[in-house]
Amino acid sequence: MSGKYLLAIDQGTSSSRTVIYTHDAEVVASAQQEFEQIYPQPGWVEHDPEAIWDSVTSVTRGAMQKVNAVASDISAIGITNQRETTVVWDRDTGECVYNAIVWQDRRTAAFCQALKEGGNESAVTDKTGLKFDPYFSATKIAWILDNVAGARARAEAGKLAFGTIDSFLLWRLTGGEVHATDATNASRTLLFNIHTRQWDDELLELFSIPRAMLPEVRDCAADFGIASDDALGGNVPICGIAGDQQAALIGQAGFDNGMTKSTYGTGCFVIANTGNKALRSHNQLLTTIAMQIDGAVTYGLEGSVFVAGSAIQWLRDELRIIDSAADSEAIARRTGVVTDVYVVPAFAGLGAPHWDPDARGAVLGLTRGSGRDEIVAATLQSVAYQTRDLIDAMSDDGIRPSVIRVDGGMVANDWFLQFLADVLGVAVERPKNIESTVLGAAYLAGYHAGVVKSAKDLTTLWQLDARFEPTMSADQREGLLRGWQDAVNRVRKAN
Ligand code: ADP
Repeated sequence: MSGKYLLAIDQGTSSSRTVIYTHDAEVVASAQQEFEQIYPQPGWVEHDPEAIWDSVTSVTRGAMQKVNAVASDISAIGITNQRETTVVWDRDTGECVYNAIVWQDRRTAAFCQALKEGGNESAVTDKTGLKFDPYFSATKIAWILDNVAGARARAEAGKLAFGTIDSFLLWRLTGGEVHATDATNASRTLLFNIHTRQWDDELLELFSIPRAMLPEVRDCAADFGIASDDALGGNVPICGIAGDQQAALIGQAGFDNGMTKSTYGTGCFVIANTGNKALRSHNQLLTTIAMQIDGAVTYGLEGSVFVAGSAIQWLRDELRIIDSAADSEAIARRTGVVTDVYVVPAFAGLGAPHWDPDARGAVLGLTRGSGRDEIVAATLQSVAYQTRDLIDAMSDDGIRPSVIRVDGGMVANDWFLQFLADVLGVAVERPKNIESTVLGAAYLAGYHAGVVKSAKDLTTLWQLDARFEPTMSADQREGLLRGWQDAVNRVRKAN
């Protein structure tokens, strides 16, 4: 295998990034670029696929220039991406027929509600591990076919292609040669049966989506074709693809049953590796494909918290009681664990396991002595409590993590991680490299290209930065959790 580097593209919701690694997972260069968020109407969120493509080629070129790399220096490319976001393009011209409809977009809420009322949800969950929700790709594709003039007829004639962002980038990078995706991205569409690992005809019929539009589904580490785009200046094989949250689990070397990662960015996403068993959640968690390597599937149970780091941004930008997110740590450290004040940051409703879209945020338990410091500490604590709710739901569904590996911007905060370990009653581990997502994509590519020999390689390369052991007494923990449950009950609308 030629080359000394691995190149990973992380196409995220607000920015695109390219990171170049040595074969030993040392970062040698990176470049990042934001692009425009388009909000055509309340509840609608779009991206211009051309802006995404331009940002990807520009950061790829930029990262390569930083180390004077040429195509032959790169052994393989890995791609990780914002999941569920939907693109439909013309197979002949490569032109997109509509903007990318972003995962956050709620325009198909009424369609999803009608499907729910049709009573098919349980059967669809059995097949896909998902729910009828605008979040997933299927209803977004249907919307495009129903709202772009002539699109349905062209799709039925085999002229249009659908892809999540990975698939769209793959098509562009290979000059329209390859229309494929990986099993993790496929598992977020509502069209993919996660047990048979095939596109499902009944689901395609339910959502009225022609099969001819769909990409071929491959392993996460696979031959995805040759990138020949000008940005690279030569030919480089594309050998890895995974959706962002799954790539983070891989980057955290979460290969064994029970291993769990929790990413704390704007929101928080938890995935527990459940091995070769697809656990059916009774607590509204999602069942998903965590990875598919060498033909072997690994399932995951996933839950998310809508508001995590963004609660800290709220303290900074709306309440204006901190100057920077990092200030929250010193304040919480001098204040200590707050036992009477609870912040419930249900700004956009409550996610799993509460699923109450109409709940709204609140600060509860204020006394005359409560001030800024208590609110700041209580806000950090709220992110830990919400994680605890997810982990409890996972345990109830049959998977109890013994350790949680964390990543994302918020894990710079040691006080938060100690409180998290205390509230979970489980050790929390922060790796040296907290950019797990993009590392996961690089690893997949390196594995297929033969420069990383086995899963164990990444397990060895994964390095611990700090481990936070629970030290809080069970009494104190339970007291705090009772207070949290009481606070959540008070903001809930649906009971
Ligand atoms: P995303 O990828 O979702 O944009 P990042 O992983 O970059 O997010 O994390 C940024 C988030 O982390 C922000 O919401 C910010 O408020 C929060 N954050 C950053 N540093 C700290 C800190 N020291 N303490 C608490 N929160 C922090």
